[in-house]
Amino acid sequence: MAGTENSQKSFGWAATDTSGLLFPFHFSRRENGSDDVTIKILYCGVCHSDLHSVKNEWGFTNYPIVPGHEIVGLVTKTGSDVKTFKVGDRVGVGVIVGSCKTCDICQQDLENYCPKVIFTYNSKDQDGTKTYGGYSDIIVVDQRFVLRIPDNLSSGACAPLLCAGITVYSPMKYYGMTEPGKHLGVAGLGGLGHVAVKFGKAFGLKVTVISTSPKKESEAINRLGADSFLVSSDPAQLKAAMGTMDFIIDTIAAVHPLAPLLGLLKMNGKLVTVGLPDKPLELPIFPLVLGRKLVGGSDIGGMKETQEMLDFCGKHNIIADIEMIRIDYINTAFERLAKSDVRYRFVIDVANTLASN
Ligand code: NAP
Ligand code: ZN
Repeated sequence: MAGTENSQKSFGWAATDTSGLLFPFHFSRRENGSDDVTIKILYCGVCHSDLHSVKNEWGFTNYPIVPGHEIVGLVTKTGSDVKTFKVGDRVGVGVIVGSCKTCDICQQDLENYCPKVIFTYNSKDQDGTKTYGGYSDIIVVDQRFVLRIPDNLSSGACAPLLCAGITVYSPMKYYGMTEPGKHLGVAGLGGLGHVAVKFGKAFGLKVTVISTSPKKESEAINRLGADSFLVSSDPAQLKAAMGTMDFIIDTIAAVHPLAPLLGLLKMNGKLVTVGLPDKPLELPIFPLVLGRKLVGGSDIGGMKETQEMLDFCGKHNIIADIEMIRIDYINTAFERLAKSDVRYRFVIDVANTLASN
């Protein structure tokens, strides 16, 4: 299988149908333009959005699809108008690689909400061709969408910050969930959730993990630094914690009831959902109205804020807890991710394992 519409040859792994199984795939990328940076990919995190996408769970996958939007790599080419990156720099690319750059939303540095946003994969690129993600050897990206990686963060373990990190950091800032001493609940201890715990502690919050997996308790507390752990299927534990939380960040990837989460909030509490289940959730109105509670959403973050988040991680030494895998383990990794069996992010060692396939 090959796509030959562009001039830079590229090689990665793609899914071609709703089985979601990935296979080696040859394709091409555009020549490096004046505003572009070409990056040799070293590592790419495995986000649950990749899994939703390869299986077409959201209904808009355009096969073949090369997933991957938690990319860390090295600059190999820069265009004539690129001044802030040079060959050899260590850089990151997240969920978006383009936007119109001129609308009100882009001018507020919220490119992620631009109506013309271009996603790193499964999107139409600026030249009309298709975007392919980071489960591949190289990528060509407009400089506005390239991030600097703080020197003290290791390449593999910081890759998940490019999506999981900014996805939880941005709502914490926007919804005012950073006041020291406040109580944050983190629902779902996966890729996004475990980074949310680390950010919560860095902001000085009390953090409680709300999980379906009792076996994650000791790690949540001893390794990730959570203050307490609540098993969401245990009515007695839920009852005891009713009305104790100021905020909850909901990272759950599947359909789930919101009533128990709303019950955990204090009056005026905020529930922010970032998980993207494939079907709508039911919103119980009574607890919202009677407790003046708020339910909000949030989608990754703009480029300026993503850089701010990376610099925050550099300052606080925050990286993801990862399981490094070879590219040929990806289909097994997806099976495990579907069962919440990952501690806490798979990261593909692209540079060392892709070439040998
Ligand atoms: P993940 O690593 O699979 O973590 C999700 C966690 O949710 C699981 O570890 C599990 O935690 C919990 N969970 C899974 N199924 C559940 C169920 N049926 N009921 C209750 N809890 C369940 O996934 P992720 O990569 O963190 O992504 C989470 C979600 O966020 C996905 O839907 C993804 O597409 C979405 N996402 C959104 C954005 C955005 O910008 N808004 C960005 C990235 C990802 P426990 O074992 O602790 O229960
Ligand atoms: Zn993601």
